[in-house]
Amino acid sequence: MVKKISHIGIAVKDLNEAIKFYESLGLKLEAIEEVPSQKVRVAFLPIGEVRIELLEATDEDSPIAKFIEKKGEGVQHIAFQVDDLPEKLQKVEESDIRLIDKEPRPGAHGADIAFLHPKSTHGTLIEFCQEKH
Ligand code: ZN
Repeated sequence: MVKKISHIGIAVKDLNEAIKFYESLGLKLEAIEEVPSQKVRVAFLPIGEVRIELLEATDEDSPIAKFIEKKGEGVQHIAFQVDDLPEKLQKVEESDIRLIDKEPRPGAHGADIAFLHPKSTHGTLIEFCQEKH
């Protein structure tokens, strides 16, 4: 089941500068974390029940570096919180929706994540995110 929006992922060139900007809007930094599997440094800033996830590439072949090269800084993905990720992925695949990740992989925050291919989602990169309890 898709429960809510977990977070909005925003690609930025300079994490510290971007944090400063969001703090100037009144958001508070919750944590900074490095996710080696995605070659990113991530900052979380909660806003209500949702988080802004700022993403900075740690390597030039990071998906975030490629995104910025192509499209510039900005919203990169939207994450839906699910509570049954493997089952959800199987269902999605059965409906002929293309997946980037057929298996859950570790994301920031100790969550398991998987991405749907934007070619199958009308252009938006959608992440399924299952937080561990
Ligand atoms: Zn994310």
